Formats: sequence, structure tokens, C-alpha cells
Amino acid sequence: MRHQQTLETSSFLSGIGLHSGNPASIAIHPAPINSGVVFVKHGADQIQSCPAGIPFLGQTDHCTTLQVGDFYIQTVEHVLSALAGFEIDNAYVELLGSEIPADDGSATPFLDMVHQSGILTQKEPRKYLKIVQPISVNDGQRSISVLPSALPQITYFIDFPHPLIQQQEYHHFCTPYEYGKNIAGARTFAFRKEIEFLWSRGLGLGGSLHNTVVFSDTGLVNDDGLRFSNECVRHKVLDLIGDLSLLGIPIIGHFFAKCAGHALHTQLVQAIIHNPDKWIMLNAGKTGKDSILNGKTSSTSTVQLPELQPAFHAL
Ligand SMILES: [Zn+2]
Repeated sequence: MRHQQTLETSSFLSGIGLHSGNPASIAIHPAPINSGVVFVKHGADQIQSCPAGIPFLGQTDHCTTLQVGDFYIQTVEHVLSALAGFEIDNAYVELLGSEIPADDGSATPFLDMVHQSGILTQKEPRKYLKIVQPISVNDGQRSISVLPSALPQITYFIDFPHPLIQQQEYHHFCTPYEYGKNIAGARTFAFRKEIEFLWSRGLGLGGSLHNTVVFSDTGLVNDDGLRFSNECVRHKVLDLIGDLSLLGIPIIGHFFAKCAGHALHTQLVQAIIHNPDKWIMLNAGKTGKDSILNGKTSSTSTVQLPELQPAFHAL
């Protein structure tokens, strides 16, 4: 039986936010069993907290945002992807600012934080949600489904009319080894002709060739080339893993995504929550499915935070 995992110590990362362009720093701290991943911020006289859960989902336009009251966190998907990809169940992610640092646009910097901290196995079994009947959502030609499967896996298909992308399909077995080797390093990508439009909407303001793969009409703007010939579809898998973690429990099923994005990814998480006859819980103990569902549909943050030494001084 697998056990829940957290980190042995805290680790830190500073940089700028991809969309806000503002300075952004985070510290990832260990957290007790059954905490899940919780974003926290030390204010002048209180700690604000926001669980990484679907009830706290904000807008999903080009990034995934979480929000409780006036506390919001932009671009959560890459750090959540790294934690889920490496099977970290419980962690506090403390912020200075309102966005996660972009760093190189991939999940590698967050995996490095996990490696620096070390992984601690905890004395509680890991819960799983196992899909027993298919669940699908779609938006015209875009779709995402999850089917029953003995092991968690993802098949992702994209189709962009660009000579360096075109049709790409990638199949990922969800293990930490595969994640670290094939997914974590895939970077955010954008098209040069769309960038000014993003700026006009207040997005991508921290974007640069250091944190984004930028495609011109026929080629690549970055001098250093692609990390993988199919880096784009791998990055979509990275994003999906982060968005799926908003369920708060690892899912055993086979995901099939076609030209999807953050909006459809998170709609599938909502469809899973609203179709409890199509899945079972493993290792849920006496609490069972109902209490877990209650926790996933309440939008009140009831996180009990233990003493957490602030990594950053209150602003
Ligand atoms: Zn992304």
C-alpha cells in the first residue's frame, strides 16, 4: 500500500510571474497528513489560505487561477503539476505576491525544489479515486475523457497549423520517473502573432524567451531550439496533470485529451465530482465517498494551519 508523502524541509524560489510580470516568490513547506496542497500568504495580522481545490477555481484563461475572497493565486498549474507528478500529497505553498514564479516556463524548477527538500513518507495510506465508468466533456472539436484503467495514464493529442507543431500525440504513464524524464522539462509555448493580443488583456506581461517557447509564423524565435521535437504536447500533459490535481486525490483512469486546455481540464474535474456513480474511492476508510464529496463542493476554506514560520515578511 502506498502512503501519503510530504517534503522533509522547506525550499524557496524567486522570480517573476509569467502573466502579471510582477516579482513572485514561493516557499514550499512540509504539511501534515490529509492536508492536500494549500496556498498560504502571511498578511499583516493573519494567514490567508486557499486549498488547491476545484471549489476555489477562478478564471482559466491561459492559466489556472485559485481564489478565496481577495486572496488569489495566478498560474498555479506548473507547481501543482510538479507536486502531483512526484506524488507529493501534502504541502503548504507560501507566496510573496499573487503569482507563482515562471522561472523557465516548465515544471523543472519545482521538481528541483522537491529534490532539494527530500520526500517524507507519512503514516497514512494514500487515497485514490478509481474511475469505473467513462466520463467526458467537450467543446466542439475539443474534448477530454477519462476511462477505466488499471494504471493512471494520459494520451494527449494537439493539432496546430504550424510547421513545427502540426499534429502531435503523446502517451504518458503517470509515474514520477516518467514525469521527471519526459514531462517536467516541457516549457510553456506561445505564438508571436498572439502575444500583443495577450498583452492587451493584461496577460503574458512577464513572458520572455527565457520562460516561453515563442513560434513565429513559420519557425521558432528562441535561439536555443526545442527541448523535445514534441515539446508542445508534452507541455499540455504537464498542464493537465496540474489541473487534475485540483481534485485533491490522485485519479486512477486513462485520460484522452484532444486539443483541450485549462478550461476543459477543470471542467472534467467538475464532471468527475458530479458523477459519483462513475468512480469508487480506495483507502478512504470510514469517511467514505460522501465526506470527500462534501469537501470538494464547499467553497469555504476550513483549513487548520499549524504553526508555520513565515518565509517572507508581511507586506
Ligand atoms: Zn503550462
